[in-house]
Amino acid sequence: MASRSDPVTGLKGVGPARAKQLANLNIFTLGDLICHFPRGYEDRTKLVPIAELRADTPACFRAVVMSTPRTAHIRKGMDLTRVTVADYSGRINLTFFNSKFAAEALQYGGEYIFYGTVSGDYGGYGITNPVFETPDSPPAATRRIMPIYPLTAGLNNGTLTKLISLALALCDPPEEIIPAEIRQEFDILPAETAYQVIHNPKTMAEAQAAKRRLIFEEFFVFSAGLSLMRAARAEKKVSAYAHTDLTPFYESLPFALTNAQKRAIREILGDLQKGTPMNRLVQGDVGSGKTMVAAAAAYCAYLNGFQTALMAPTEILAEQHYESLGKLFAPLGLHTVLLTGSQTQKEKRMAREALSSGEAHIVVGTHALISESTVFANLGLVITDEQHRFGVDQRGRLSAKGHDPHILVMSATPIPRTLALLMYGDLDVSVLDELPPGRQKVDTFLVGESYRARINAFIRKQAEAGHQCFVVCPAVEENQELDVKAAAAWAETLRKTVFPDLRVSLLHGQMKGAEKEAAMAAFARGEADVLVATTVIEVGVDVPNATLMVIEDADRFGLSQLHQLRGRVGRGSAKSYCILTTHNRNEDTIRRLKALCATNDGFKIAEEDLKLRGPGDFFGSRQSGLPAFRVADLSLDMTTLRDAQQASKEWIERFGQSDTKEARALRERVAALFARAEGTMN
Ligand code: ADP
Ligand code: MG
Repeated sequence: MASRSDPVTGLKGVGPARAKQLANLNIFTLGDLICHFPRGYEDRTKLVPIAELRADTPACFRAVVMSTPRTAHIRKGMDLTRVTVADYSGRINLTFFNSKFAAEALQYGGEYIFYGTVSGDYGGYGITNPVFETPDSPPAATRRIMPIYPLTAGLNNGTLTKLISLALALCDPPEEIIPAEIRQEFDILPAETAYQVIHNPKTMAEAQAAKRRLIFEEFFVFSAGLSLMRAARAEKKVSAYAHTDLTPFYESLPFALTNAQKRAIREILGDLQKGTPMNRLVQGDVGSGKTMVAAAAAYCAYLNGFQTALMAPTEILAEQHYESLGKLFAPLGLHTVLLTGSQTQKEKRMAREALSSGEAHIVVGTHALISESTVFANLGLVITDEQHRFGVDQRGRLSAKGHDPHILVMSATPIPRTLALLMYGDLDVSVLDELPPGRQKVDTFLVGESYRARINAFIRKQAEAGHQCFVVCPAVEENQELDVKAAAAWAETLRKTVFPDLRVSLLHGQMKGAEKEAAMAAFARGEADVLVATTVIEVGVDVPNATLMVIEDADRFGLSQLHQLRGRVGRGSAKSYCILTTHNRNEDTIRRLKALCATNDGFKIAEEDLKLRGPGDFFGSRQSGLPAFRVADLSLDMTTLRDAQQASKEWIERFGQSDTKEARALRERVAALFARAEGTMN
């Protein structure tokens, strides 16, 4: 027996070249081979009479070779082998390109099983490059359900299939981590069966059952991991906050809190008084007032003698939080400092000194907060804004600067509940399901290029009324291929030819931190009428005087991202608008964008987005902090996810403390999964 950790080079037929191809697929060991799952199957079990072969429908058939294969040299590097085969129902021509193998193997009068697709290509009706084997050979490429694997250049499906079955025959499958009781309850195949069957199912139903087991397993490991983390935290003891009267804070606010804000704050205060570390997610649509909830928590930490760190995903956002919190807290006696990467060395040093001496009560910052040189006198509360942009490890590294500090996570992306459970399964959740009064719906329109003149006139009208306008483009530099409006070029056009009399400024992610800040701050002060930007403005920036958001090539963005962008307007009292432009005529695209025009409800939009694009796109190209699932598809496998969550809960209750081989294997898998997730996260 070989071990799963043995290198693939030990397999027959795997030399350096093949090993390199396998490495392209992240396959290094026999275990990796076994875990290289099919992306689908082709049912090649049925044999079809030649007369019933249909164009463009791949099929298997049994036939006799009726002519000696003839090979013609067409041109340099191109040999064509032709042969005619027949069964009782009819005959058909086969064509092979550069196949010395076919030319030599196919014998006149011999009988073979073929698999291929009839087409009218390459000089007449026939089949090009069918696979074939003799009827007495064991089914390898015909007469079976063929797994279809993700491939790489030089490595075909047949070869990979062979290598995987070799590996399966040589070593034990990964060990069982789901106890029999739980497998039975949730109708889950044993690991051993599942790994064999996924690569070589006898029926499609069998393949489905094996796939379900593996998906279940992935979710189960993840979910058990979150539960273990939660359980570990519940055992930790921290000082229970005794002072929770926030009256001075409430009285200093220029507005009354919404009921949703009050409820969330109540829940937070409840956590802080418990004596175990808080781990709470505050989830609310754009503009629902999450910052005030965070501020209340920070104020409470201050009352109890603890410091708070608020980490934002961008400098612009950190700056803005610093401004507003600083103003709010100064009269209450709290000292707020800012810490970002683009500050001068001296500014950073002073902020850090204030933190380590305890003179500063609150720090607002970016990743700079995580840096080694940031030391806290008494960090009690860690708040992260727009959490899905941070990985679990970053949250963790900031927390490590305190002694089990309380954790508050704020997410502006309304994440569908199912997915929230998965991403934040270790968190308690408060939902802000109410907007502050006076907020109005942002009227949203989808238009084509023929509306350009009207869009421009509308921008001008807003500017003349003293309001401001965002124009968002998907990319920074002209990219012919994508044909998107590059922000820089577009700003130039607007400035020079369309609005020579208006103040047009530019903001994009490739500008230096200080430049970005300056551009944003100037716009917030009303020093520009039109701000052309990339999605750097997506998060958090508050410019109440902005009443129009034009999003160019809106089809390039995800729905949730568009909703987030749209949330940048409608923050003041004036009526606000959002115009989406697109050249795209694709029906699905139009339907997607129209969904955004129809509703301002972020949760509905998020559900729609998840349905249409799946979670990978849903969170954008940035890492979501979720581990990459090998088999599971988050948008499709929600039922299995719920089952696995239920199962992991039962597991914790029944086996959480046990020390069986299975339980140890599961803990190991959990550790490996989270290590892998962290490795891919920055
Ligand atoms: P988000 O949830 O998107 O982070 P913010 O916390 O930035 O929202 O709040 C958006 C705006 O609403 C801010 O200008 C904030 O001062 C204001 N705001 C927050 N809570 C209230 C409230 N209860 N009443 C009125 N305005 C509020
Ligand atoms: Mg916010």
